[in-house]
Amino acid sequence: MTDSLQLRSEYPLQELNTFGLPAVAEYYTEIHAADQLEQLEQWLKRHPMPLLLLGGGSNLVLADRVPGLVARILIRGWHRSDLSASHVRLRVGAGENWHATVEKSIEQGLYGLENLALIPGTVGAAPVQNIGAYGVELKDRISAVEVFDRQEQCLRDLSPEACRFGYRDSLFKSIEPERYIITAVEFSLARQFTAELSYAGLREGLGHDPVTPKRVFDTVCRIRREKLPDPTEIGNAGSFFKNPVVSADLYQQLKHRFESLVAYPDTDGYKLAAGWLIDQCGLKGFSLEHVGVYPRQALVLVNLGAARREDIERLARHVQQMVQERFGVRLEPEPRFYP
Ligand code: FAD
Ligand code: NAP
Repeated sequence: MTDSLQLRSEYPLQELNTFGLPAVAEYYTEIHAADQLEQLEQWLKRHPMPLLLLGGGSNLVLADRVPGLVARILIRGWHRSDLSASHVRLRVGAGENWHATVEKSIEQGLYGLENLALIPGTVGAAPVQNIGAYGVELKDRISAVEVFDRQEQCLRDLSPEACRFGYRDSLFKSIEPERYIITAVEFSLARQFTAELSYAGLREGLGHDPVTPKRVFDTVCRIRREKLPDPTEIGNAGSFFKNPVVSADLYQQLKHRFESLVAYPDTDGYKLAAGWLIDQCGLKGFSLEHVGVYPRQALVLVNLGAARREDIERLARHVQQMVQERFGVRLEPEPRFYP
């Protein structure tokens, strides 16, 4: 039987976004099962207002007041079935914790998610920006995304192709952001481990001992803990800017002027390391009132205490301006600003 929706008004979200911004939702509810979504839609039909889906709040920059309804997705579930002799299908509820899912998959002898360890947030939000780290993207590891289609008012599976995944991008992030509520993600994981070691940082971190899935997982966790601020201690949303992709021409010009430029070939040209660009502007450790550039990783903006959305926007504009002036490249924010 479906539990009826519990709605709250003027609900504080400061503990529910990793930047620790003091946002308050006009209305708030929690979704524990996919069949509650029909009730949610019925309620929204009677009370038309914007809807924000919330996972772990680790990729959001919220205003002080969040108008409309915030629905936190807490759908659990873990279903395993055979796909082939080499692969296993794993369907995981959207509200499950991402990192715990990676850890449990390895414990069960299912491989492919090791490089994505310690990314905060939920399984359901992972397809939204096609999360990626250390040379692996979510799109490489999934067979379907289960969604509630708000237009058709039904549950269905989308194939990876239908999700239109791109670099930190997808159908859910930039093409039809209001249409789908992700209820589960289906992974295709291997029974045999193949290491993805294209990133020098990970290779160096692993050293010379034999490479096992658990060692990759542990090494990724260790490197991330050394470089990145723990959101439970210092508010942040991870990388604040996407790595800009520039044409081969612009890359050549920049490389000529800045010999140590950090860049990687990409399908559309060259991907520049945004952290390097910011660092070169002397901004590592720079702060403006309540917000700063993290000293150990220039791509991360941190809440120094009592920050509000406006403070983050002010520092972000400053960083964008400095990078634009020095390199002629525009940095785009990665997290979603809401509203
Ligand atoms: P939220 O912030 O709650 O939501 C993000 C977006 O997804 C919002 O638009 C929201 O409306 C939407 N959404 C949430 N749940 C659903 C759902 N069920 N259905 C439809 N839409 C939904 N990202 C990377 O890609 N790689 C990294 O290595 C990485 N490292 C990070 C490190 C740190 C310290 C931090 C703070 C963040 C990092 N991130 C990284 C960013 C972030 O963790 C990921 O984008 C993560 O997937 C967001 O999950 P979430 O549950 O917190 O989503
Ligand atoms: P890093 O390993 O120091 O690398 C710096 C940048 O160079 C990264 O942005 C990475 O791009 C790129 N890069 C490095 N080796 C590459 C290769 N072999 N091929 C293509 N690109 C390469 O980066 P880091 O800051 O320590 O982060 C490690 C990983 O965790 C990265 O994948 C990063 O994206 C991820 N991460 C993401 C977030 C987030 O919030 N989105 C936060 C922290 C860490 P990519 O970023 O495209 O991988």
